[in-house]
Amino acid sequence: MKTSLGICQRKRRFATREEADAVALRADTTLRAYKCALCRAFHLTSRTKGLRVPRAV
Ligand SMILES: [Zn+2]
Repeated sequence: MKTSLGICQRKRRFATREEADAVALRADTTLRAYKCALCRAFHLTSRTKGLRVPRAV
């Protein structure tokens, strides 16, 4: 999966998948944790199909 640098820097970062999942569970929308190839931390995305990089809402 490709992640653009701009998206990476804008998004919230989590050191572990557990941490990201914990936040995802509390969110109103369905979020999915994925490992970022750029910063090697985890980000959350609301895109669950195809897992394309979400654009800013
Ligand atoms: Zn990142």
